[in-house]
Amino acid sequence: MNNSTVTHAKIKRTVIELVQGDITEQDVDAIVNAANNTLLGGGGVDGAIHRAAGPGLVAATKKLGGCATGDAKISGGYNLKARHVIHAVGPMYRVGDPNSPKLLASTYRRSLEVAAQNEVKTIAFAAISTGVYRYPLGESAKIALQTVCDFVSAKNSIKLVRFVLFTEEALAEFQGALDTMTRERDDLNYA
Ligand code: ADP
Repeated sequence: MNNSTVTHAKIKRTVIELVQGDITEQDVDAIVNAANNTLLGGGGVDGAIHRAAGPGLVAATKKLGGCATGDAKISGGYNLKARHVIHAVGPMYRVGDPNSPKLLASTYRRSLEVAAQNEVKTIAFAAISTGVYRYPLGESAKIALQTVCDFVSAKNSIKLVRFVLFTEEALAEFQGALDTMTRERDDLNYA
């Protein structure tokens, strides 16, 4: 499955891209996996990434010693086109819990920090926590885009941030959140 429906926006020197596609096929420096605390693989996008990367990936993540919710750790990409996988652990969504948005923002921020520390210039995110962890897509999109925009506007090292949305619905929700954010932020514009 190739990427389809691409939207570009620009903030400072960073391009923000929305595509509908499969994250395992992305030709970027790092892809961000929606992992669980064990980092040993699971269902959803995590399972797809482990299958595509091959057994080298789980051998590597075994050595990482798990990961706290809201944090991220990096490994090699093995059989993937991407040189690195950033394993990010988003929160399970709980209605009305103020920790859910804080933890989701932290997950995106820590992924970007780990990327910047490892000279990653191009990065692709899955929609963290929006599957089995049930985070509402629209709310997650707002947090994801806001956290990425705040990070790249303060620190210019990452050139491309691509959100790889698996479904038409996810793409539409991210598109709606990006529309709103381009109206709210002077530094973010459609390219
Ligand atoms: P979580 O446990 O963090 O909710 P999931 O893997 O269940 O993680 O889902 C996260 C998101 O990843 C969902 O929006 C799901 O549709 C999406 N997804 C599943 N497979 C892929 C894939 N191959 N590429 C990109 N996104 C995917």
